[in-house]
Amino acid sequence: MPTPIRTRVAIVGAGPAGLLLSHLLHLDGIESIVIDNRTRADIEKTIRAGILENGTVDLLVETGASDRVLKEAHRHEGIELQFQGEGHRIDFQKLVGRAVYLYPQHEVLIDLLARRIADGGDIRFEHEAIDVDGTTEAPRVVGKDAAGQPFEIVADVVIGADGSRSVARTAVVGSMTGGYFREYPFAWFGILCEAPPSSDELIYANSDNGFALISQRSATVQRMYLQCDPEQDPNEWSDAQIWDSLQTRVAGRTLHEGPIFQRDVLRFRSFVAHKLQKGRVFLAGDAAHTVPPTGAKGLNLAVNDVRILHEGLLALFTRNDTTELDRYEERALHRIWRAQHFSWWMTSMLHSTPDASDFDRRRQIGELESVVSSDAAMTYLAEAYTGWPYD
Ligand SMILES: Cc1cc2nc3c(=O)[nH]c(=O)nc-3n(C[C@H](O)[C@H](O)[C@H](O)COP(=O)(O)OP(=O)(O)OC[C@H]3O[C@@H](n4cnc5c(N)ncnc54)[C@H](O)[C@@H]3O)c2cc1C
Repeated sequence: MPTPIRTRVAIVGAGPAGLLLSHLLHLDGIESIVIDNRTRADIEKTIRAGILENGTVDLLVETGASDRVLKEAHRHEGIELQFQGEGHRIDFQKLVGRAVYLYPQHEVLIDLLARRIADGGDIRFEHEAIDVDGTTEAPRVVGKDAAGQPFEIVADVVIGADGSRSVARTAVVGSMTGGYFREYPFAWFGILCEAPPSSDELIYANSDNGFALISQRSATVQRMYLQCDPEQDPNEWSDAQIWDSLQTRVAGRTLHEGPIFQRDVLRFRSFVAHKLQKGRVFLAGDAAHTVPPTGAKGLNLAVNDVRILHEGLLALFTRNDTTELDRYEERALHRIWRAQHFSWWMTSMLHSTPDASDFDRRRQIGELESVVSSDAAMTYLAEAYTGWPYD
């Protein structure tokens, strides 16, 4: 094993969680090393999240991580809920005076990487963590680089921000699967296509044929999803089949069709790790929790974890005070479980399950009718979707 590299904070994963944390630490003069098993180009092509809460955008702008988000993101002041062939607008601005921003995850990653690299940040691409050892005062990460050479990083604190298949999780909970878990009997068939937008805001459509989500990316590229079987092979469907399925699930408008240039099937899971901290090793973002994407919460939750972790690390490194850091799990879990509930609720209210009875279907319509006919219910949806205030 080569000579260990020493740093204050070793961060596994250059996703939104890891990069944002290293940026916030840098602003306080706290050194960190971020490792990621992918190349920079691959990270910058990550197609995932699209919706950012107000608080996420504010944090990116106020800390200098991104100014593009203010210029290029699209402000959405509502969404449309569709069922039984009718659309109902949930007006966030009117209900809670807030909005969300459509700004794809790869743009967030491009901004964060550019900022970290301009600031001289130590980001090591193609460095794969194989193990995190948190059993000593100075935790360490061991792994191998692109050439297959081993490396070892010894730090005061290790952050596992390495996504849903986290290696760091084992150091905290004892296994990669140690957590509260739920799987869903459906998945999303996601496409990217070249076409103009079919709507100004997101459409969440519940239909007898299953769920569909009409989302946007830019003036020329759109992102859409339709409910499918988790075992669906994305290459089995022709473009015509995909468009037919989408068109029949969305009522009252004809979607603009165009060439489909990316397709994937995305399984649905809810997960919260049994613990987020052990000794000097912490989990953040998807490594700590996963939500089904229906509520658009994953990246936003990762940002909240990082915000709280940053406060704790600042207290540790400037005042040698661990009180804040020791409260990380309790503070982060508060929002995590609320977001878990919201994501589960949106998912179960909008999708059909393979074994749904007539009763289940009618009850679901009753629930949707209750939501769109009650200011209280729509206000809850708007509060949760746009993001609760930070504690
Ligand atoms: C279809 C879809 C739509 C979504 N929509 C939204 C939305 O609208 N709003 C929202 O807030 N969220 C959304 N999400 C969720 C969001 O994408 C994730 O929650 C977010 O990426 C989590 O960020 P992260 O930094 O925790 O993890 P990740 O983004 O997964 O980053 C982890 C990083 O760690 C690296 N890594 C993994 N293992 C290792 C290892 N062993 N060694 C080194 N590096 C490693 C990976 O290469 C990766 O770069 C969506 C997700 C999907 C799939």
